[in-house]
Amino acid sequence: MINRSIASKNGAANNMCASQLVATNTLKLTTNQKMVHEALLALGRSAGAYEILDILRKKGVNAAATVYRALNELAQKGLVQRIVSTRTFIAHQEPKPEDEESILLICQHCGEVSSIKDNHIVRAFDKNIEQSGYCVNTYHLELMVSCDSCAKKTS
Ligand SMILES: [Zn+2]
Repeated sequence: MINRSIASKNGAANNMCASQLVATNTLKLTTNQKMVHEALLALGRSAGAYEILDILRKKGVNAAATVYRALNELAQKGLVQRIVSTRTFIAHQEPKPEDEESILLICQHCGEVSSIKDNHIVRAFDKNIEQSGYCVNTYHLELMVSCDSCAKKTS
């Protein structure tokens, strides 16, 4: 199943419902964490720390370290996910459980990110890796793709 709810292109921060606001409020985010999370949600796609910094300069944030610190703290709370392949981040509207495995689909043209939650694929990986005699410490299942709209533009 493809989940396009990670972030929508329509400015997800503006469409947050009351229950989602409660969810992020109970996490007791700092001002910097809130600004970074809202900026990333509003983008509706993955972005790097320096792009987020450029957006937040208007709000008085001038150091990349401030953005990186907020991103790391948001990742620990499950509200931001690091995309290893592109060295970018994507925001979640609600905290993502740590044990939830998904396969990320990243549009290499526009940065839109979707996820597939397919336990069969994850189990197949686990089984094959176990049979090879290795054990997994960490893994990131990320596929570089073209999203529907970018595929139409390039065809
Ligand atoms: Zn795209």
